[in-house]
Amino acid sequence: MTAIFAAAALTSSVVTATAENQASSKQSVILISIDGLRPDAILAHGPESVPAFYRLRREGAFTHNARTAITQTHTLPNHTGMVTSRLVDGADGHGWTWNKDPKLGDTLHRNKGEYLHSMFSVAHDHGMRTGLFASKTKFSLFDLSWGPRYGEPDPVGEDNGRDKIDVYHMKTRSENMVDDLETVLKKEQAFDLLMVHIRNPDTAGHGFQWKTSLPSIYMAAVKKADELIEDIFDHLEKPQWNGRTFVVVTADHGGPIGLKEHGDNQNPENFTVPFYVWGPGIPAGADLYELNAESRLDPGNTNPLPSPDALPPIRNAGVGNLCLDLLGLPAIPGSTVNSGQDLNVR
Ligand SMILES: [Zn+2]
Repeated sequence: MTAIFAAAALTSSVVTATAENQASSKQSVILISIDGLRPDAILAHGPESVPAFYRLRREGAFTHNARTAITQTHTLPNHTGMVTSRLVDGADGHGWTWNKDPKLGDTLHRNKGEYLHSMFSVAHDHGMRTGLFASKTKFSLFDLSWGPRYGEPDPVGEDNGRDKIDVYHMKTRSENMVDDLETVLKKEQAFDLLMVHIRNPDTAGHGFQWKTSLPSIYMAAVKKADELIEDIFDHLEKPQWNGRTFVVVTADHGGPIGLKEHGDNQNPENFTVPFYVWGPGIPAGADLYELNAESRLDPGNTNPLPSPDALPPIRNAGVGNLCLDLLGLPAIPGSTVNSGQDLNVR
């Protein structure tokens, strides 16, 4: 979908969005995934250099020691985990390990051999407006899987149709993608659930290595990602978003200092990701592991297997169910990560 089409699609939502605003003050959630973001890069920059990340730390609840999937530290398997709240492998896993553009006819359902629900499908089936703004072509997997052809008929209440992602917009330059998003955010409340994918740190890491010393191409890309988050924050001051919008930020994987690939799932540099939650009622500066001392355990430098005898870490895959929880919606059917929606952020 082009930017113009996205903006045009918006106009059709203006009437309903305005009516809904008058009827209720329901919540909105923006999930931002920063591709290839090492949390220590934020600390290495410091508050002057990356003010948006520091705003998330100062005003929100967060941890710099969340985890990716266990068996995969690649982009598409981890983003699939985020939107389905599943791990990759096993009977309950989403099963998607391919990290390139989906092949002709591929969907998550076909690959798994069963229909996979997502945060988009649950939100949309409950009448919410959903969007996905991405900066890599491979995200078409989600638009395909939950589009008008392969999305399942709406099983909940009023029929909201099979296309679970109302606006899918992709541009391979994150700056242009966020420009397009800003055009949409400027005009009216556009989405109840919006996911934004920013690729810059990953692209810099592959080209010039993950280097957290300053200056480096990687650190410049982290700063650019901060500026794009800042651009989104600027819109949240507007009345249609203010006081009712949550921002959740995490990453699909990190990357190793001095290398150009992040596929080694045993390396803590790859499986350690940040996790920030910001918005109304979120305690300022809170540590997510302290808020969840009874249900989650800081994993140190491990990425532990699921065990009935041990508390799990906070995982990026938990964001799908968290976003739905913040919207007042139930968990994703079939999900296993934060499936009790018990990740406490307030
Ligand atoms: Zn990558």
